[in-house]
Amino acid sequence: MDLIIGSHVSFKNDTGLLGSVEESLSYKSTAFMFYTGAPQNTNRKEINDNITLEAYKLMKENNIDLNNIIVHAPYIVNLCNSNNFDFSVNFLIQECERCNTLGVNKMVLHPGSAVNGMDRDIAIKNIVDGLNIILDNDYNVKILLETMAGKGNEVGKTFEEIKKIIDGVKFKDKIGVCLDTCHINDAGYNLNDFDKILEEFDKKIGLSYLGCIHVNDSKNELGSHKDRHENIGYGTIGFDNLINVIYNEKLKDIPKILETPYVTETDDSKERVYPPYKYEIEMIRNKKFDNNLIDKIRKNNSN
Ligand code: FE
Ligand code: FE
Ligand code: ZN
Repeated sequence: MDLIIGSHVSFKNDTGLLGSVEESLSYKSTAFMFYTGAPQNTNRKEINDNITLEAYKLMKENNIDLNNIIVHAPYIVNLCNSNNFDFSVNFLIQECERCNTLGVNKMVLHPGSAVNGMDRDIAIKNIVDGLNIILDNDYNVKILLETMAGKGNEVGKTFEEIKKIIDGVKFKDKIGVCLDTCHINDAGYNLNDFDKILEEFDKKIGLSYLGCIHVNDSKNELGSHKDRHENIGYGTIGFDNLINVIYNEKLKDIPKILETPYVTETDDSKERVYPPYKYEIEMIRNKKFDNNLIDKIRKNNSN
């Protein structure tokens, strides 16, 4: 079977899922992830079912499976925060409904942030309470808790914390985990020994909960708690370690999504940005690091 790999793509109001599929195909992807609207706000437009059906047709022609499409919940919601708890819960219920309308059955969620020095166990309890309200529905959507770098007061920086949340969730078939390689590196998990990380994940959480992998290199050192993504092979994790994750036999059915930064170029004092995904995916398929990749992307785009 072909590698299940893709990237973050856009989802626009006018072209909907069809635009996202077209962008993914331009990168030769077999999976993709998107926000259903701007991640920093909650303005959302009605979904056009005709466009969605056209998208399905194009996916079918190109062997992209609906199971390998992921929605990322907006990062402005925070289930830890009691002050806008109802807002976060209601918005996430609407997001599940939108996923369901689109036929997408996985939604990645940042667990939350223990704001204003709140107790981490209370933060976790709030997340659990929120998830138990959100998941009490008939939508065919699983929420995948993302492993976090531990920047600021982020919850979910250890497998133990993720496990505590899962333990409290009543709907076990609707909860899972998204493992982000940059985040776990920054949280202190050393990807030089990925087998050991997977073993620990299996022991503490259970591999069956793993539903998505975010494949990113990191700009920062192991345990830095920073969360700044780097292009594949250009960071502290390195190409070989990321290849080990991507081609791990135990993870072959799990979609792998790149969230690496766009390549920038400044000429005439204006900045241009180019998506790296087509090139990074090709390099991953070749399993050979190209240390001229970034220059190549600039060159191929600028004329
Ligand atoms: Fe994320
Ligand atoms: Fe991520
Ligand atoms: Zn990140």
